[in-house]
Amino acid sequence: MKIIVLEHPRIRSEIRFNDIANTPLWSCLMGGYVASALKTAGHEVALIDCTVNGWDFSRIADEIMAFSPALLAVNCVYMWEKSGAIFSFFQNLRSAGFRDHINLFGFYPTLAYRTILGFCREVDTLCVGECEITVKELASSLETFGAVGEIAGLAHRSGEGVKMAGPRAPLRDLNLFDFPLRTNGGFRTASILGSRGCYNHCSFCPVPSFYNNGPLWRGRSPENILLEIKSLISMGIRDFYFADPNFIGPGKKGKDRTLRLMELIRPLKITFGMETRPQDLDDEIMESLVSSGFTSMLLGVESGSKTLLGQLSKGSTLNSSERAIALCRGFGIEPEIGFLMFIPDSTLSDLGENLEFLRENKLLNRLDRTANLFSHSHIVLMGTSGYQRYENEGRLTPAGYMGFEGEIEYADKRVAWMRDVVVFACHHVLRQSAYSDSPIYWQRPQEQGPAKRVNDYLVKLFEKLLKNAESLKTLDDPEMMKKDIEREICLEIWGEPLKAKSCL
Ligand code: SF4
Repeated sequence: MKIIVLEHPRIRSEIRFNDIANTPLWSCLMGGYVASALKTAGHEVALIDCTVNGWDFSRIADEIMAFSPALLAVNCVYMWEKSGAIFSFFQNLRSAGFRDHINLFGFYPTLAYRTILGFCREVDTLCVGECEITVKELASSLETFGAVGEIAGLAHRSGEGVKMAGPRAPLRDLNLFDFPLRTNGGFRTASILGSRGCYNHCSFCPVPSFYNNGPLWRGRSPENILLEIKSLISMGIRDFYFADPNFIGPGKKGKDRTLRLMELIRPLKITFGMETRPQDLDDEIMESLVSSGFTSMLLGVESGSKTLLGQLSKGSTLNSSERAIALCRGFGIEPEIGFLMFIPDSTLSDLGENLEFLRENKLLNRLDRTANLFSHSHIVLMGTSGYQRYENEGRLTPAGYMGFEGEIEYADKRVAWMRDVVVFACHHVLRQSAYSDSPIYWQRPQEQGPAKRVNDYLVKLFEKLLKNAESLKTLDDPEMMKKDIEREICLEIWGEPLKAKSCL
């Protein structure tokens, strides 16, 4: 059977351009995994990855009509306010005469399958949860019976409602998945997935919901990962990034597995990066990682406030975060930090604790990092436990494309005020740092010169706003303040008023 597996074009959000919370990192391999499963099942599969070939929706529509697949399976990724482009694409495809089956899989369809089936008549089915086997069974059913059939984890319209033959249980043994297909993008770094799921359940995270809300963490065997790395090395790749939500698994078993994996990859002389929870790191693991080519790390710290860590169900402590940051530095790795500065239930004292935590741990001295740490707010996506909680409390207003995000009423209006102003300032900085002719261009040094001036400005602004909010002065109208802030930042960037005008 002819099948296209599509990684659709991604359109950058103008509002959320520095937020990566729209989908977990490992989404980037999902299309490859599905294509691989279908190919092994004997289908004629074309994996089209528009994130690599740069095709737009109109070009991809032409390709689909020309290939004429019996099944179009799409890794559907939420694109914030631009998400409508995906569904317009399906409408255009149908109008152009495409009559065959359209299936969506991935995080967004899993979390919002009822909503999507409700508003988009052009889509036939959606995979809910782990998708490789579900799509394979769908293809087999379409080929054999010409119909969808009863498939676990496959949602479709039925009369006026939505039907699904029970949830899809995640596959226990990840070694049974074929390696993902990859299109030749000429990349220097290859993403790779060593494990799936997470044993924690942070209220904002879509990972636990994706796997049926179970605290499931499953790791591939080190030997199986080694085989994939070796096959990628044979394609000329020497740098890897583990896209796992939680690279080091739980407890002693997780640690032993990581140590074994490092033993295996050490002789390969590759470099790699990964993301993990602070409490999973210790001296032995770090030594083993670094001696095997480890070069970059994202630590999910999330907050400098003990109270908020508890509210986020993060299951980690400030001590473990501080210890992990120091540990990484001791081994010559400067960690990047996952952090939520603004959370709907934050108090001003939580913001003060966040500021103190970042300062004490020397995380506010590099402009690109400061602007990101200050500007990330809690994002509440449909299908997560956080969304459910705020909805039950009557504090959630559906927002984003077709209500996929929740706009949450902040418990303290002063925190919401600070968020509006600080996020505005940071976004202005980040936009300016995207221009190659800007003195704070992100590829220029971020700890000296104009970048340092702007960095210090942001820190002082944060302190000033916090003091004002704490002293209960009347809060200035954020809209009035924004013009001044823009002007002040541009002055810091250029150092002289005349040039500063050019960035306004
Ligand atoms: S630790 Fe929390 S944020 Fe990270 S993957 Fe697990 S549930 Fe998600």
